[in-house]
Amino acid sequence: MQFRPILLSLVTVCSAITAFAGGPDKPLLRPDGKPYPVQRTEAEWKKRLTPEQYKILRQSGTEPAFCGRFHDNKKPGVYFCVGCDTPLFTSNEKFISGTGWPSFFQPIKSDRVLYVRDTSYGMVRTEILCATCGGHLGHVFNDGPRPTGMRFCMNGMVLNFMELKAGKNGKISQDDVENAKWDPKKGKSH
Ligand SMILES: [Zn+2]
Repeated sequence: MQFRPILLSLVTVCSAITAFAGGPDKPLLRPDGKPYPVQRTEAEWKKRLTPEQYKILRQSGTEPAFCGRFHDNKKPGVYFCVGCDTPLFTSNEKFISGTGWPSFFQPIKSDRVLYVRDTSYGMVRTEILCATCGGHLGHVFNDGPRPTGMRFCMNGMVLNFMELKAGKNGKISQDDVENAKWDPKKGKSH
């Protein structure tokens, strides 16, 4: 009869997004000192994002494992940043890591994301930021599958997903990836 306590504790954990640092004064400059192409005021960010998305994207939060979106999504398609609609990842590079977060072995193009050393919580990790809006997306680890050996561990709540048709090999074509554009009319997808 342990079902009820387990369920209750999961609900509690899922509502507890951890966030730290950042906030309204977070600089909107890239690590190399150049401004991010997409700049928004705090009011604009709060209007665009849900409170959970704001905590993750703008305050370097982390959604609890298995509580976000897309960690078990096997559909073919493209994943976009919720902060600026930039296409970041595709199903071609996605794998089921079992960690409870959507995982990819590489982004669509290496310059779609930025890598920043993160020493929070007593750990040394590499944080992944959106190169277009500066939003915090997740972290990258070197225990991923071939061909890169990398595991981009992303927060599903800050990604939007658009399903595309896959070819016979189960992959979506490069042309389809390059033409993929998130339609804001589809809403916030949350
Ligand atoms: Zn972005």
